[in-house]
Amino acid sequence: MELNEQLFQLTQERFGRSPDQCDDHQLYEALLLLTCRMAKERPAPETGRKLYYFSAEFLIGKLLSNNLLALGLHEPVGKLLASMGRDLGVIESMEPEPSLGNGGLGRLAACFLDSIAALGLPGDGVGLNYHYGLFQQKFSQNKQQEEPNPWIEEDSWLIPTGKTFSVPFGGFELNAVLYDIAVPGAYNQYANRLHLFDVEQPAAQPWVGIDFDKGDIVHNLTSFLYPDDSDDPGRLLRVYQQYFMVSAGAQLILQELEERGFALKELADHVVIQINDTHPSMVIPELIRLLTQRGLTLDEAVDQVSRTCAYTNHTILAEALEKWPLAFIEKVAPQLVPIIQELDRRVKAAHPDPKVSILDGSNRVHMAHMDIHYGFSVNGVAALHTEILKNSELKPFYDLYPQKFNNKTNGVTLRRWLEACNPGLTALVDDCIGPKWRQDPDQLEKLLDYQTDGVVLDRLLAVKQNSKDLLCRLLWAKQHIELDPQSVFDIQVKRLHEYKRQQMNALYVIHKYLEIQAGHIPERPVTVLFGAKAAPAYVMAKHIIHLILCLHELIERSPQVRPWLRVAMVENYNVTWAERLIPACDISEQISLASKEASGTGNMKFMANGAVTLGTLDGANVEIAQLVGQDNIYTFGAHSDDVIRLYKGNRPDGRGYDPLQYYHSPSVERLVDFLVSPEMLAIGDPACLSALWRDMKNKDWFMALLDVEAYIAAKDQAVHDYGDRRSWAKKMLVNIAKAGYFSSDRTIRQYNQDIWHLSEGK
Ligand SMILES: *Cc1c(COP(=O)(O)O)cnc(C)c1O
Repeated sequence: MELNEQLFQLTQERFGRSPDQCDDHQLYEALLLLTCRMAKERPAPETGRKLYYFSAEFLIGKLLSNNLLALGLHEPVGKLLASMGRDLGVIESMEPEPSLGNGGLGRLAACFLDSIAALGLPGDGVGLNYHYGLFQQKFSQNKQQEEPNPWIEEDSWLIPTGKTFSVPFGGFELNAVLYDIAVPGAYNQYANRLHLFDVEQPAAQPWVGIDFDKGDIVHNLTSFLYPDDSDDPGRLLRVYQQYFMVSAGAQLILQELEERGFALKELADHVVIQINDTHPSMVIPELIRLLTQRGLTLDEAVDQVSRTCAYTNHTILAEALEKWPLAFIEKVAPQLVPIIQELDRRVKAAHPDPKVSILDGSNRVHMAHMDIHYGFSVNGVAALHTEILKNSELKPFYDLYPQKFNNKTNGVTLRRWLEACNPGLTALVDDCIGPKWRQDPDQLEKLLDYQTDGVVLDRLLAVKQNSKDLLCRLLWAKQHIELDPQSVFDIQVKRLHEYKRQQMNALYVIHKYLEIQAGHIPERPVTVLFGAKAAPAYVMAKHIIHLILCLHELIERSPQVRPWLRVAMVENYNVTWAERLIPACDISEQISLASKEASGTGNMKFMANGAVTLGTLDGANVEIAQLVGQDNIYTFGAHSDDVIRLYKGNRPDGRGYDPLQYYHSPSVERLVDFLVSPEMLAIGDPACLSALWRDMKNKDWFMALLDVEAYIAAKDQAVHDYGDRRSWAKKMLVNIAKAGYFSSDRTIRQYNQDIWHLSEGK
């Protein structure tokens, strides 16, 4: 049936009217149903080995455009709507964004599912169906407020499967109900699944803000993503979530294995499990439990599981590596305790070094240690990160199992992060090099032939200007903030964390503010844009948001500064915002303290859209710098080995990092002290501002003061170079040309070749 007939039939059945009589939301629902049905009817890729990608987060974003693209319907639907005088962009804006992830880690999982499907590989995601996801961020009195994000409407992408699995908790059982989201592959006729488990009786939304009864596991287990874990009920709920996910997921795997006609003893031949960070680590003891319950000996079960599970590490921040008290597991899943103790006993018998044991002296379970001993692969997510794991953070493990360690530099799906979000740039790329880069992203390098082509460079600048104009209109519509579209757009969007150093960017703003006030007018106007959510219990991160919002207010009120310097923060930064901000960016801020950002993926999205990176030599920035060359990136700041040495207190004089030493440089002191200046205290909350001021000056754990002067110089250089438009356009072009390496299709091919060994279907 033709597309327009299908749509007609759908809207007639549902709303008793033809598509052109439908309002935007009805058209959205009709397209959702049509797309969802087509994706659902696709077969799974034929399996040899099958991958299950376990992740507590899948930050999938809106799916309509993405799925239309994968189904080859994006253009036809766009045209059909246009012929009715409607706009796909407007219809799409009706879709609520699921917030099933915090940031990079969850977005990576979503990009991976997209690429696995596009390559025709058999691989499903396994996660949880959080009803209110990550909180929605609102600003009030220059502070972050949190509200639930109820994203599941009557019609959604969730497909009920009718499957349930009983999960045995200490003292009670809970059914895990399985919903699927279809993941259609671009360039083939297959679809994989994202399996999301849910409780049977999810609570309606009875709360004020995001406060809820964390003890009511039966109703609230899947209410929120990572409930506030600053208290024990929150931490315990997190363990309940994790065990619920892995127990139901493990049961699903064994059920599918049997349906495919294989014996449990052959698990490792037919299944591979990728453990995305440590949140799903309990899948290891849970699978061992299920296999022994069904007749395997303990040795057989341990052997199968160890050859099935592979672990991805995402962080070297010690506080982010999960260590659960064994008492928590005793309460949530007591049946796992003897298994974990036995796994630990075996480790201790073979390796006396206490640094590699699973259970430590305080009876805490080191989840990552369990993954490394009882998995066959350990990977980092960027070259530098993997080296730091091998040589420093996980060195004792690398010494034991060098063959398990490997690097898989992250990537992003260019279908969403270029084709869908930046049609103007996509058209320009197609006009230059044809369409084949979609399936072979390295072909983007052919753009290098156009570095001296004035017509192409001017078109590139025009495309960028158009995206900036669009962003200006959006920010006006959403937040009543009026920007200067001719200014340099300098953008830092990512989760708020001290190691990502939004506070250092704020110090740049203060520097500029003081300069302009002193009569030093800059070469050209700059707009510094932020977007970031702070974890609800992360006090210092909230102070930094407060600082940025106060700076916004201060500058808006200053007729002298405002024409030259603007600061704004988008409210509720999420995937949809990212899709609007990234195409409009001139300077991409990637300024984490070297050694602390495992990879970053925002950096990759920005470069693919022609932004030039201003960054430290951290995470994948290192690889970006190697690829584009020194002329096409601005790097600055301390190197990772220096930073690691500083943390160890290994300076030549035997001391560690001392922020006061940098604070007492006059040019730095006045920036930091501005936090508690009369003009700031008149706008902001004195308690927050002075707490932040004291921390920056006396503690500065992520060394913003160490790098701030180099940062200001590098940023001023970038803003200066922006003035030579042709030369800047050339930098933009080189960045786009080199972005092919950061396609998640490349990353997934490498996972498959080195770890998964799935057979590619086409
Ligand atoms: C890509 C992405 C991130 C990750 O950004 P980083 O700069 O790598 O931390 C976080 N949030 C959203 C919404 C994203 O799209």
